[in-house]
Amino acid sequence: MAIRKIRELGDPVLNKKCKEVTEMTPRVQELIGDMFETLYEAEGVGLAAPQVGILKRIVVIDTTGEDPILLINPKLLETSGEQNGYEGCLSVPGKSGKVTRPNYAKVIAYNENMEAFELEGTELLARAICHELDHLEGHLYVEKVEGPLVDAADLVEDED
Ligand code: ZN
Repeated sequence: MAIRKIRELGDPVLNKKCKEVTEMTPRVQELIGDMFETLYEAEGVGLAAPQVGILKRIVVIDTTGEDPILLINPKLLETSGEQNGYEGCLSVPGKSGKVTRPNYAKVIAYNENMEAFELEGTELLARAICHELDHLEGHLYVEKVEGPLVDAADLVEDED
């Protein structure tokens, strides 16, 4: 496995729509391993393949550091409720902005064996699912921010 370079805001690859994964191959397996390694190294909550320059519909999420979730070709089945809070993105380093998201999200996706499964999430997981699925359509959270982007470091200080 290897750490991949995370593409940042302004890189055109982040604004492109991703293609479905049609079969599991050694290359795709390697990409998934690298995405998890890159996510953990960057201490992020989620990472989508376009963030490492690959236009495939693959997302990795881990909201606790102990619950790795892989979503291949994810499709949103259902959302409900609303949450409003600060959100960040590994492609917009050091920044944070307020975004309204559903408080519940349910997706269907494929696992590493290309078997379909459903995943439900609330709160942070629902936020992460919606944020990462947006990446697969070429959208970043900064398009949805209410108010200014702030320095993430300032937010942490505010919470102390
Ligand atoms: Zn992001």
